[in-house]
Amino acid sequence: MCSGRVDPAHVIRAFYKGIDGVFIGGCHLNECNYLTQGNYYAQNMVLLLRKIMEYIGLNPERLKIEFMSGSEGNVYVEAVNSFVKKVKELGPLGRGEGLEKEALKSKLAEVSRLIPYIKVMKNEKLRTPLLNREEVDSYFTIDEIDKLFSEMVSYYIDPEKCRACMTCARRCPVEAIISAKKQIHVIDQEKCIKCGTCLEACPPKFGAVTKIVGEPVPPPIPEEKRALVSG
Ligand code: SF4
Ligand code: SF4
Repeated sequence: MCSGRVDPAHVIRAFYKGIDGVFIGGCHLNECNYLTQGNYYAQNMVLLLRKIMEYIGLNPERLKIEFMSGSEGNVYVEAVNSFVKKVKELGPLGRGEGLEKEALKSKLAEVSRLIPYIKVMKNEKLRTPLLNREEVDSYFTIDEIDKLFSEMVSYYIDPEKCRACMTCARRCPVEAIISAKKQIHVIDQEKCIKCGTCLEACPPKFGAVTKIVGEPVPPPIPEEKRALVSG
């Protein structure tokens, strides 16, 4: 019922499934039905996603938010018709931008996996109501998005320090840690959503989890070498 409930993951999933355009309709700003002002969040989310789309080579005009009230049927019809016209002009998703289908899917899958990280990193700006309408176009910048991705955080378990206590694996929200009794633990970087929980969870006496910023993660220890040698 609230545009603030639209998560970036919903939008990216739609594009991943090949939808050519996503239109979000929200109540007028400052006229929230629930006093939560979720439409401000929706607006910021759209501004952020539009910059991310630009960053991965998708035309940001494929995503639109418009504000209107339930009684403004004419506004709704006009907004949707003009959006549909625009999307038709842009052509099928990716093809209009000259992107190869599989490459686009893989970029969208990567963005989708990183949504929780992106939301944490941009939380402050996402939840701050954008009161100055003139700032809309510059609220998020392409340089900021470039920095967000190039200085991406990763987490790595040092095989020399891991004591296979399994604490991190139990706390990981997405089961991204390859874990077994008396086996050195390994983070599956393809599944990891970069929440940092494992870093907090690893007991200080082991200190086996490291945060890596903007650099490649060392390759995982081979499976046959993961048996923990006690001592
Ligand atoms: S940062 Fe750690 S706890 Fe969080 S998803 Fe990645 S492996 Fe799991
Ligand atoms: S919490 Fe630390 S020591 Fe325990 S399994 Fe995870 S990385 Fe290894």
